[in-house]
Amino acid sequence: MREREKEGMDYGGKIGGSERGGPCGACKFLRRKCVKGCIFAPYFDSDQGTAHFAAVHKVFGASNASKLLMRIPAHKRLDAVVTLCYEALARARDPVYGCVGHLFALQQQVHLSIN
Ligand SMILES: [Zn+2]
Repeated sequence: MREREKEGMDYGGKIGGSERGGPCGACKFLRRKCVKGCIFAPYFDSDQGTAHFAAVHKVFGASNASKLLMRIPAHKRLDAVVTLCYEALARARDPVYGCVGHLFALQQQVHLSIN
């Protein structure tokens, strides 16, 4: 469980711009041309970003994710993308509770440490 959790949730610097030259992870997944100014390009690289985007697309839909990102200021988009990825990967792992399952577990740890 611990190992899977680390794999699924480790973003350690992995979210970041695609080195121009190939499509970003989102466009690679959607098999479309990655245009200059692609809303996803700064956040989904063509390596791990593709897997992250696949989860985001499955849970929220690519179009909804793009609309959401366009509505918020550029300097807040990274936080939004990290959150979208976190929730999407958690939902993929736990279809019933998603990230709420993780919250329950943390809440229980707090509860146990208080009592
Ligand atoms: Zn793109």
